[in-house]
Amino acid sequence: MEDKFKSLSIEDFYKRFPNSKSCLNYLAHQKWASGFTCKHCGHHRYCSGGKPHIRQCSKCRYKESATANTLFHKVKFDLLKAFNIVYLIATSKKGISSCELSRKLQVRQKTCWLFRLKVLQAMKSHQKVGLSGKVELSDFKIGMKKTLQNGQEVQYKKIVVLAIEKKGKGISHGYAISTNSRSAKEINRLSDRCVNLDAKITCYKKHGYDQICQKYPVVKRIRKSKKSIMPLSNRMKNSITTWLRGTHHHAELLQYYLDEFCYRFNRNKMKAEIFDHLLERMVRHRPRTYLDIIH
Ligand SMILES: [Zn+2]
Repeated sequence: MEDKFKSLSIEDFYKRFPNSKSCLNYLAHQKWASGFTCKHCGHHRYCSGGKPHIRQCSKCRYKESATANTLFHKVKFDLLKAFNIVYLIATSKKGISSCELSRKLQVRQKTCWLFRLKVLQAMKSHQKVGLSGKVELSDFKIGMKKTLQNGQEVQYKKIVVLAIEKKGKGISHGYAISTNSRSAKEINRLSDRCVNLDAKITCYKKHGYDQICQKYPVVKRIRKSKKSIMPLSNRMKNSITTWLRGTHHHAELLQYYLDEFCYRFNRNKMKAEIFDHLLERMVRHRPRTYLDIIH
């Protein structure tokens, strides 16, 4: 196998990050690679904040650590274990549950659950790669579990709107959003964000897709009742459904899981880079608390 398709081995991970100090070094290097700017007053000069990797603004005296204002903000457990979680999420083929992370790293399951969601936050698509060429737009229902306030679990349905770009016999890129309806508003929400205006669209002959014909010059519409339609979209739908059943059962955070699935899918050929890419995104991302995530 070519090197670029291989992910970093665990031995290489520990060579690169033997202790939490090396993780802090990495974060400081990434965060201030293009210089220091004070978050409070915008001043660029600083002095040492008294501890390693804390910088103090020389004008307003504001102190900032390497982890502050990133997704590593106020991480309450060993930073090396946090990096290890990012590594395991980045290199596992189908994702890894918080229970498995907890077992492997001897960190509380709830802590792993929350930190894992922070990592998934960094997987959220920026939709920089707009889909073009042959693009299929579709939607499907998915049965999920929801926990009520009294702890009772109920089954209910969510709708996923899916856009894929076809290349040869396969799919080169895909994006998916979780919604509560198949309305034009929701379908446009996805197409506006990630489908280029020159794309040749195939979509359903259903009310929600009417506006797609007005927006895109080439649109082929098909009846949903035909079973053979859009086999590639169907394949992606099956992969998403199977993966969700295997790894995540709860619907509350469905958009996070769809982002995770698409992130991995769209970077299938860039496995070696995923770990670094995720760490970089986590440094640039604003901090998220438990409440930010569940609301
Ligand atoms: Zn300042």
